[in-house]
Amino acid sequence: MKNYKNFKAAIYCPVSNLISITDFEEFGRRFDEIEKHIKVSKVYLETYRHGTKIEKDQIEKAIRFFKQRGIETSGGITTDWVDDGEGGFNPLCYTDPAMKDMLTDVVEFTASLFDEIILDDFYFTNCRCESCINEKKDRTWAQFRIELMKEISEKVIIGPAKRVNPKVKMIIKYPNWYEHFQDAGYNLEDESKIFDAIYTGTETRNPTYT
Ligand SMILES: [Zn+2]
Repeated sequence: MKNYKNFKAAIYCPVSNLISITDFEEFGRRFDEIEKHIKVSKVYLETYRHGTKIEKDQIEKAIRFFKQRGIETSGGITTDWVDDGEGGFNPLCYTDPAMKDMLTDVVEFTASLFDEIILDDFYFTNCRCESCINEKKDRTWAQFRIELMKEISEKVIIGPAKRVNPKVKMIIKYPNWYEHFQDAGYNLEDESKIFDAIYTGTETRNPTYT
């Protein structure tokens, strides 16, 4: 199917959906239905979310599937943690060495597969654990978090990604709760320079509740 003239339609594919594909032929028939109605130019294939990481073999199958259809493939990462059952978001703790190692591993894995990666709009923190309180010292939460996320962006995201794949273009996607960015560590001043691109604005979701 030919693409649109003045814009591209892209689909973000969460990792659980990609893992659930057991039969790519059958999936192809279902994707045909989507392509009857939307000219898909690009897919973001997510490698990690909610503590779940995709196997290399499965993501490679997904990449092959879309490339065979002439659809551009980019990577996606949602930087959050396992659902604690209390409702709300579950961001990572960016002062926890084990979580930083886990994220580095995900970033390296994803950069080995794609030349472009988007961070879904969970790249923030509201962690108030003992370790974060200790590192915060006498700074405000906003000051502590924007400085922390600048460091994480350089050392855990961009550095490892470009070491594995110097060509990789890293995109940060910002959410729409603008007035709370700094409180949760979103650092527009520095991140706009550290990352290769920013994504914001257009997104459609389930039409019945978002
Ligand atoms: Zn913490």
